[in-house]
Amino acid sequence: MNDTKTYKELLSELEELRHQVVEANETLHAIKTGQIDAIFVENEKGRQLYTLKTADQTYRVFIEKMKEGAVTLNHDEIILYCNRQFSSMIGLPSSKLIGVPLSEFIPGESLAQFQRLLKKGWQSDSKGELPLQNKEGKHIPILFSFSSLEMDEGTSLSVILTDLSLQKEVEQELKSKNDQLEEVRQKVWAMNERLEEIVEERTRDLLVSKEHFKFLSDNIPVIVWTTKADGTPDYFNKKWVEYTGLDLEDSRAEKAGRNIIHPDDFEPALRAWTNAIESKSTFEFEYRIKQASDGQYRWFLTKGHPLKADSGQLIAWFGTCTDIEAHRKEMEKKDEFISVASHELKTPLTSLKGYIQLMELEEHLPLEVNRYIHKANESVTKLQHLINDLLDVSKIQAGKLKFDMQFLNLQDIIHSSVENSAHIYPSHTFKKENIPSASILGNAERIEQVLMNLISNAVKYSPNNKEVIVHSQIDKKRVTISVTDFGIGMSEVDQKKVFERFYRVDNSNLFTSGLGMGLYISAEIIKEHNGKMKVKSILGKGSTVSFTLPLAQN
Ligand code: ADP
Repeated sequence: MNDTKTYKELLSELEELRHQVVEANETLHAIKTGQIDAIFVENEKGRQLYTLKTADQTYRVFIEKMKEGAVTLNHDEIILYCNRQFSSMIGLPSSKLIGVPLSEFIPGESLAQFQRLLKKGWQSDSKGELPLQNKEGKHIPILFSFSSLEMDEGTSLSVILTDLSLQKEVEQELKSKNDQLEEVRQKVWAMNERLEEIVEERTRDLLVSKEHFKFLSDNIPVIVWTTKADGTPDYFNKKWVEYTGLDLEDSRAEKAGRNIIHPDDFEPALRAWTNAIESKSTFEFEYRIKQASDGQYRWFLTKGHPLKADSGQLIAWFGTCTDIEAHRKEMEKKDEFISVASHELKTPLTSLKGYIQLMELEEHLPLEVNRYIHKANESVTKLQHLINDLLDVSKIQAGKLKFDMQFLNLQDIIHSSVENSAHIYPSHTFKKENIPSASILGNAERIEQVLMNLISNAVKYSPNNKEVIVHSQIDKKRVTISVTDFGIGMSEVDQKKVFERFYRVDNSNLFTSGLGMGLYISAEIIKEHNGKMKVKSILGKGSTVSFTLPLAQN
């Protein structure tokens, strides 16, 4: 290879070098005078941009620190400058970005729009949302703001890129929340509509049932009433108005009750009603009400049923007053008959008993006859018990069940009653539990009558389980005696009624004799002793019937 250059070539090279020196001098001059602050240098690494520290340094730092991407483009869309934020958006260093067309980072489907914005940007400031595609191919939503910059070297286009990812996310989140809200709103709206329908339906039903209730209650021969929870009347049917001559307003007047209820019945009825309201329990009471047409009193059975909310709160009372005058009259007649019949039977029966006892004393009678006399004596004793019970019932009815009271030791009565029972009912075993000495003021005969009654019931109603327990317990100023059996037991409904006169449970599968007087008489006797009777029972398991008496004060 020949390295030797001709004179002409050397001259041309010299001319070129001189030209470069002039250019370098001019550049130096421009730098010195602050006319330029960046230069491109072509070297083995390619085209490099070198920036100079000048008075614009502050703006440069500011642009570098901006949260937005900043890019300067020339007319060929080539990136002349880009800040750090733009680099991090794309994921490439600025050295790899400068000199590259910005459109390379715009996804194909958005290029046309980009070109339109760009074109507009050269003429005036323009803005538009477009995606930017980074190194990984991920699309970032960006707000592009274009504005052209007049510079000494000509016009360039500055582009500010605002990352809208967060905003879009927030928008998206907001939209989804809005959608959810809308969904909920729709549901609430639908529920509201349904609720309105239900309310309408219920109102209609209520009206119908109110009319039904009014129609029925006005056309039955029973008095119907309703009150508020506190007992203030708010409805009476026609029958009430006809019978008492009082409308709702009159009936609410302060003295109304006192004026129409029999003076003997008013206080006890009021007490029972007040108790029912306080205990929120069913009210049931018999009292006389004055009839407006003739001023006469008639017996009524008044029943009140408390209407409660699910929470147990008392809402109202529904009630009826049934005319039981005829029934009362019949009962009175029956009581009268029982009283007369039992009195009439008592005398001949006593003499019959006397004769039988005399016959029992006869020594030389055949064995067979003696057995008959003994049986006759037993039957007469049973009959006497029955007549005595009937007489007791009559006495109770007439308010004449009175007896002498003495200081007694209950322990003695219990021991003798249990011993007697063991003798009379050999089929059963009797157990005494905790029988302490307890002094009471009472009538020994009557207390024994009660205890024997409970024991005979325990035996009668426990045909298969033969154990009977008599238990007593002292609690502060009271003593309770209970008789427990493990027999047929009774339902809750029956437990509430067994102390009523002539009440018998329908035990059709069990043959037992009785008239339903025992517990009624017992309860009355205990009441006379200022005590109380109770029954606790489980059907098929057995019963405990007890009475509580006040202990005697020394
Ligand atoms: P009765 O003469 O019918 O026994 P009571 O007044 O003594 O009359 O009892 C009333 C009703 O109570 C009885 O008919 C019976 O059904 C029921 N009863 C009483 N005691 C018991 C008991 N220990 N076990 C089961 N039922 C009983």
